Amino acid sequence: MTIDHKKLWDETLSHIELDVSKANFITWFKNTAIHKLDAGVVYLAVPNTFVRDWLQNKYHSSILRALRSNMEAVRCVEYIIHKGPQVEAPRQDPKQPTSQMEMVELYVDREDNLNPKYTFDNFVVGSFNELAYAASQAVIKNPGISYNPLFIYGGTGLGKTHLIQSIGNYFKKVDRLKKIHYLSAERFTIECVDAIRNNKAHIFKEKYRKYDVLIMDDIQFLSGKEKTQEEVFHLFNTLYDNNKQIIFSSDKAPKQIQGIEERLKSRFEGGMIADISIPEYESRLAILKNKARIHNIVAPEEIIEYIASVIQNNIRELEGVLNLVVVQTQLRKRDLTITDVKQLIKNNIKPQKSISINDVIKTIASFYNIDEKELYQKTRKKEVVKPRQVIMYILREDFNTSYPYIGQKLGGRDHTTVIHAYEKIKGDLTRDNLLSQELEQIKSILYGGI
Ligand code: ADP
Ligand code: MG
Repeated sequence: MTIDHKKLWDETLSHIELDVSKANFITWFKNTAIHKLDAGVVYLAVPNTFVRDWLQNKYHSSILRALRSNMEAVRCVEYIIHKGPQVEAPRQDPKQPTSQMEMVELYVDREDNLNPKYTFDNFVVGSFNELAYAASQAVIKNPGISYNPLFIYGGTGLGKTHLIQSIGNYFKKVDRLKKIHYLSAERFTIECVDAIRNNKAHIFKEKYRKYDVLIMDDIQFLSGKEKTQEEVFHLFNTLYDNNKQIIFSSDKAPKQIQGIEERLKSRFEGGMIADISIPEYESRLAILKNKARIHNIVAPEEIIEYIASVIQNNIRELEGVLNLVVVQTQLRKRDLTITDVKQLIKNNIKPQKSISINDVIKTIASFYNIDEKELYQKTRKKEVVKPRQVIMYILREDFNTSYPYIGQKLGGRDHTTVIHAYEKIKGDLTRDNLLSQELEQIKSILYGGI
C-alpha cells in the first residue's frame, strides 16, 4: 500500500468505525488495505473469502460512501484476497490449479470476469433451487436455443451469482473458443454512461455484441436508467437474433421490477424464468457441510446443525456465521457452545430493516392467535395484553421505534404505557423461560431465524 493509499484507507476506516460496533469493526476490517487504485476503482485487499463476502454484503455501501467522502473520484470497490500481512499481487497465470479456496479468488479472469470458484460441482441443489438449476443445465446443453434468455431471480445471498457464473465456467471449460462474458448491470451502466460521455458509444456497442454467451447479473439495477435500458434492449435483440445465449439475474421477477420499460420486460420474460427461493433445513445443512469441507473447517456437528436451524434465508449469512465461529474458536482457543454461537449471531446479525411495523404486529397477533383488531382496542383481556406488550417490546428493542409512535400505532396509547410494557417484558424475560422461548420463535418468524 502506498502512503497515499494508506492515508485514504485510514481516513475511510475512521468514518466506518463510527457506524459499526467495535467487535464488528475489528472482525471485518482488520487486515484490510487498499491494494491499488485504478481508474476510480479501489481494489481492496481482504484476508479471505468470508471477509470479502461479508464486506460485500453488509458494508459495501458504507465502504463506498466513506471512500467517496474522502476521494470523490472513487467509483466502485472491488475486493481481492491477500494472504498474510503483505498484499499479494494477482498472479499472472489464471489457469494454474490450486487447492486453496482463498487463492482461487485471485484468479478472476479479467477478460470474462468469471471466478473459477463458482462451479456446478460445489453448488448444492435442493428443492429451493432445483428449477433454476435444471434450467441452467438445459442452457448448457443447448445454448442459445432452448431457453433464451434464461432469467434467474431470488433474494440476496441465495446463489444467483454462483449459479450464473457456473454456467459461464462450464462453457469456458468445454469450449475454449466460446466468447463468454459476465458483468453486473451496475458495471454495464457505468460503462454505458462513460461511453456516451466520451463519444465512444460505437466502441461500447461493438464490444458486447461479439459475445457468444453474455451473463448480466442484478439487472434490477437498471431500474430508472432509461438510456442504459435502451442499450440493453438493442444488445439483447442483436445477440438473440444470432442465437447467442443471454442470462440475466435479478432480485425480483421481471413483472415486479419497477422502472423498467415494458419492451425490455417482455424480452426478459420471453425465455425461461426460474426462481431461487429460501433453502429448507436439509439444504442449509448440506451447504454448511460442503463449505466446511472445502475450507477445511472442523466444527462440532451440533454447532453446524444449530447454525443451519437458525439462519434461514441467506446463504451468504450461513457462511458468515460459520466464519465467525471459526474466528472465535481460534481466538478463544476452545470449541464454542451453542450459547456462544447464539450470542455471536445476536451481536452480529441485525434484523433486516425491510420489516414494517405492520409486519411485526401481524406476525405477533397471529403467533398468539388473536384478532389483530383487538390489539388496537381498549380491552385489557389477558390474552390481548401480553401480545400487545410483546409488540411494544420488539418495536422498541429491535426497531428502535420511539415510545410515542409505538403508542400511536397501537390504538393511540400514551407513551408511558409503552414504556411500562417495554420494561415489564424486559424484566419478565430474565425470569420467564417460556416467554423467552416465545420471543425467540417470534423473532425467528420475523427475521428468518436470526
Ligand atoms: P446472490 O447472487 O443470490 O446474492 P451468491 O451467488 O453471491 O448470492 O451466493 C452467496 C454465497 O452463498 C456465495 O458464497 C455462494 O457460493 C454461496 N451459495 C449460494 N447458493 C449455494 C448453493 N446452492 N450451494 C453452495 N453454495 C451456495
Ligand atoms: Mg449476486
